[in-house]
Amino acid sequence: MMYDMIIIGAGPGGMTAALYAARSNMKVLLLEQGAPGGQMNNTAEIENYPGYSQIMGPELSMKMYEPLENLGVENTYGIVQSVEDLGDMKRVFTEDAVYETKTIVIATGARYRKLGVVGEEEYGARGVSYCAVCDGAFFRDKEILVIGGGDSAVEEAMFLTRFGREVTIVHRRDELRAQKIIQERAFKDPKLHFIWDTVLEEISGDGRKVQSVKLRNLKTGEISEKEVQGVFIYVGLIPQSGCVSQLGITDAEGWIMTDAQMHTIIPGIFAIGDVRQKNLRQITTAVGDGATAASEAYKYITEL
Ligand code: FAD
Ligand code: NAP
Repeated sequence: MMYDMIIIGAGPGGMTAALYAARSNMKVLLLEQGAPGGQMNNTAEIENYPGYSQIMGPELSMKMYEPLENLGVENTYGIVQSVEDLGDMKRVFTEDAVYETKTIVIATGARYRKLGVVGEEEYGARGVSYCAVCDGAFFRDKEILVIGGGDSAVEEAMFLTRFGREVTIVHRRDELRAQKIIQERAFKDPKLHFIWDTVLEEISGDGRKVQSVKLRNLKTGEISEKEVQGVFIYVGLIPQSGCVSQLGITDAEGWIMTDAQMHTIIPGIFAIGDVRQKNLRQITTAVGDGATAASEAYKYITEL
């Protein structure tokens, strides 16, 4: 079967592209390697998506997904391995299937970056986490450390104060990167503490659970130890563009380059959302990208 559009990734960007394409009567396949929702599934409270003063990430995921079923969007599990461009027709390869399509929308987003410190791998899921909404409840009345100074670190640290006895943000500079409104709320939170100009050097434990960390002050060089049971790491994102790396559409860091209408340099292949080279990675911007790409893909098919 030949699809009009295959969308790789069912985050907010991919789901919006599917919504718009299906409403234009296009035959759409949404390929996703996990649950629909993307990074929203790892997000506690969302307070900047228009229409909701506050909504939990997994709930917004479901609300975006529900209408797609009624519109006949085919949603299939699959880890996309590669993509082949044959001009008017393109192929998408998963581990066990090959799909044919006229257009492709790459909506594979980004994933958390690891710090690469001693103990991070060893204590993964045993005290080290990258997802407050998934793991926060395991740290009731415990000492929690959050690494990073961006929106994710600060917002998720505030969420973790519901559980932890104390939550401390460790940031490598003396100024946060997070949006000002988020910073202001964080500074007012009595359960939230900050350690500035400091990096995490090592995570230690008894082999089963995290017990302490070693920190280094970048200005004084001083090394200190802190007893903690939970370490949440939010030090930025890396693009999930491996499945299209052979197409020559990414920059040196792996972000996909597009024009303002989401076209890559390959006709009929579009990229949207966090995987795209852009300044503002948000649900609202991913959703906007998705609508634009679907509309451009419709025009492309009409002209074929
Ligand atoms: P993603 O949400 O990353 O979805 C990409 C999807 O593609 C995933 O489901 C993934 O499984 C799938 N995929 C990847 N590769 C493949 C493959 N090879 N084959 C098949 N499927 C694949 N933004 C806000 O606006 N407000 C917030 O409050 C907010 N809070 C956040 C909190 C955290 C902790 C994080 C990490 C991010 C937050 N963001 C927030 C940012 C927001 O979540 C992202 O900007 C948004 O999810 C990007 O959407 P996307 O559709 O581009 O990609
Ligand atoms: P980010 O904005 O890239 O911030 C990463 C943070 O980690 C920065 O503070 C950075 O420090 C720090 N860092 C990076 N490498 C480090 C290292 N090796 N050691 C110690 N610290 C390190 O990433 P993010 O916070 O995950 O946000 C990603 C995107 O999602 C952003 O576009 C963000 O706006 C969006 N987002 C939005 C919301 C929201 O709108 N409410 C919520 C969450 C995320 P420096 O500051 O010194 O560089």
